[in-house]
Amino acid sequence: MEQKITVCIDPGHGGTKGTDFFREGEYGLREEEVNIRVALALEKLLADEDIEVILTRRDDRFVELQERVDIALKAKADLFVSIHHSVAQDRSLNYSIVYFHKNALGNPASVDFASYLAFYFQKRLKLSACVYSDYLVFPSGFHVLRSLKDIIPAVIGEASFLSHQKNELLLQRDDSIEKEAQCYKEAIMGYFENGLPNYKLISSDDDQDIIIELDDGFGGAHFKDDSLRVFINGKSVPHKLNIFKKVIVLEDKKSFGPGCHELYLQGNNKKDNNIHPKPYLFNNVSDGTEWSGYIKEGKKLYNQALDHQKNNNYEKFQITVQKAIEALNHSLRILPVHEHVDEVYYYLILCFKLIDDRARLEQHIKYLKNYVPSSEYTEKLDP
Ligand SMILES: [Zn+2]
Repeated sequence: MEQKITVCIDPGHGGTKGTDFFREGEYGLREEEVNIRVALALEKLLADEDIEVILTRRDDRFVELQERVDIALKAKADLFVSIHHSVAQDRSLNYSIVYFHKNALGNPASVDFASYLAFYFQKRLKLSACVYSDYLVFPSGFHVLRSLKDIIPAVIGEASFLSHQKNELLLQRDDSIEKEAQCYKEAIMGYFENGLPNYKLISSDDDQDIIIELDDGFGGAHFKDDSLRVFINGKSVPHKLNIFKKVIVLEDKKSFGPGCHELYLQGNNKKDNNIHPKPYLFNNVSDGTEWSGYIKEGKKLYNQALDHQKNNNYEKFQITVQKAIEALNHSLRILPVHEHVDEVYYYLILCFKLIDDRARLEQHIKYLKNYVPSSEYTEKLDP
């Protein structure tokens, strides 16, 4: 392992006794309690390993879903593991479930880890275990998994059913808690032992070629034959791999056309761990007069984002807002001062409002008011 790995452990729920009456077994054991006991036991088990562990809560308190995501992001976690227990009407049910977000093809690293976890649940708890998409539960999946999808592998583990009487009695015992924690530990260790393949876009918008730095998880660039693929706007494109420099080069960036594009990679390292297909955005700049084109593009993308939001298409909504922000910012990079700069600030403000990015929202309201005090857009802002 090249650098220290960070895992964010998220004990589900908390501070929910007064509201979520259903998260309880027949003998009164509550899900949030069991979740935290497993999480703390897991933290202890990982203490001797070369792994940084972050918990989203350490006691019975309410933590917003977004706050859990933010904790993982702030810690720059490499993996997010949410710990839960299932509760069902049918009290005879008892098996293990591991959820990943959306579809397996688009989220292969999460599925990799989910498979490790399911394997150890089955082996140690002697329960049958399945790996499911969170779309089976909610039409847009779970908030935490959805929000982390473009960043790191993330899963929700439901080791067993709290609603199963015998299992509830078991879960009151420390050795059962320990056993579940052991499953998580073995899955985490097993997964990381096989390397965390990764990539980074290192060329800038001004470069002629696109250069992507590779890491197979062991400091090299060795991937399974033909498994490496580069996608631009969802389409696989030809690339050149330079294994000694550990980079992928896409020549002639201009051939992808003007505007903002999305790039991601797929591939397995030699130990069969998949790359997490984290998207990067890049812009094509051909000359210095394109700033107005980017404003147009940014406004168009903003309106598309509104449509995605209306249609509850969160995934596309998030990506499109980011693209809009990127295009608008890009117009500012090409030409920071021009007669329509207030329009750029105004649309950036609308974008930040959409994704609830308070800090940048306020910063850009300030820019608009300070730099263009007489702008007609100031009146359009909500008080
Ligand atoms: Zn739960």
